[in-house]
Amino acid sequence: ETIEVSAGKKTYPVHIGYGVSRSLAGILEKRFPNLTSIMIITDETVGKLYLEELKQILDKPSVYTKVVPAGEKAKTFAVYHDCLSFALEKKLDRKSVVLAFGGGAVGDLAGFVASTFMRGIPFIQIPTTILAHDSAVGGKVAINHPLGKNMIGSFYQPEAVIYDLNFLRSLPQGEVRSGFSEVIKHALISDRDFYHSLHHSIRNLEEISPEDLASHLSSGIKVKRDIVGQDEKESGVRAYLNFGHTLGHAIEAEAGYGSITHGEAVAIGMVFALRLSIQVHSLPFDIKGFENWLEELGYSTRLPAGLTPDRLLERMKQDKKSLGQKVRFVLLKDIGQPVIQQLDDNLLLDSLKTF
Ligand code: NAD
Ligand code: ZN
Repeated sequence: ETIEVSAGKKTYPVHIGYGVSRSLAGILEKRFPNLTSIMIITDETVGKLYLEELKQILDKPSVYTKVVPAGEKAKTFAVYHDCLSFALEKKLDRKSVVLAFGGGAVGDLAGFVASTFMRGIPFIQIPTTILAHDSAVGGKVAINHPLGKNMIGSFYQPEAVIYDLNFLRSLPQGEVRSGFSEVIKHALISDRDFYHSLHHSIRNLEEISPEDLASHLSSGIKVKRDIVGQDEKESGVRAYLNFGHTLGHAIEAEAGYGSITHGEAVAIGMVFALRLSIQVHSLPFDIKGFENWLEELGYSTRLPAGLTPDRLLERMKQDKKSLGQKVRFVLLKDIGQPVIQQLDDNLLLDSLKTF
């Protein structure tokens, strides 16, 4: 399947399915007739598993590969600098293309490298995680600063996304769980049917059928496409994608990155946001059923031990999405009807204390 994404003035295809990476060479030839060289950026884990396969598909001279550390370690100034040095040494130019081959971390790094090298050269996302159905679409690219995650970045859309679901087969369970949380988010903010079909078809993350996986990931991408299409730079509806993330980010930061995955933190954040939505907007929703389902899938639905309400609130205020000192939350009036709401500190503190 091919999903067309329009963001700002740009339109690009997301090719999703089992085996779609085989069309990479053809896509490159068509899209870049004057291509000079290719820089693959991948991480150690994905590189070991699939780099040879990708190179065989490319079968071109002037393919250079930069292997970076796996996970958030990829998104540092030092690694970013290394990538730029590598690109200069290999004499990449404005007719070169960067391939981001890996999960969201590699995608964010490689996209930022591409967006800044020689004021911007084209890049293609070749995501290899479930989470990256989200991160590879929409054009947010970034690295981290010691004082904050994703603080240094830009909006820079890829030329294409090639999402070969065959690469997902080696994903560890924890990463499946992390990524799947964003699929649930996409369902909750978009429509009831999508949410119910997830709820009914997925009872065990270790046994998702290939058909279900493909169909749910496509649906998730379409939700993101629709939102990004209306608001590339997050002046409005794009903020809906932060559902579950205000508290989720605070949990990640407080617990320490790496001690809980992004998606697991977001799952807790979604439970919290749903509880607030019931309280503030009388959202009609079976929260107990939702929590039971998440727990069946292996998620925690409560705050990790040792995190205090005060510190979490402080973190939420520091979030770059907060304006001034007020915390802005994405709540639901109904499934598929997100709203942005400033919430009072006291309400948040009380809710966190009883959460
Ligand atoms: P990741 O890239 O760190 O990948 C997670 C782990 O899985 C890594 O250790 C990686 O080596 C491994 N891995 C990747 N593909 C694999 C495969 N096919 N088989 C086995 N192992 C594999 O993380 P992620 O969860 O994909 O993404 C998280 C990152 O994405 C964060 O940095 C987050 O900030 C970013 N993000 C960006 C956006 C955006 O819009 N740009 C949105 C959401 C998240
Ligand atoms: Zn997220």
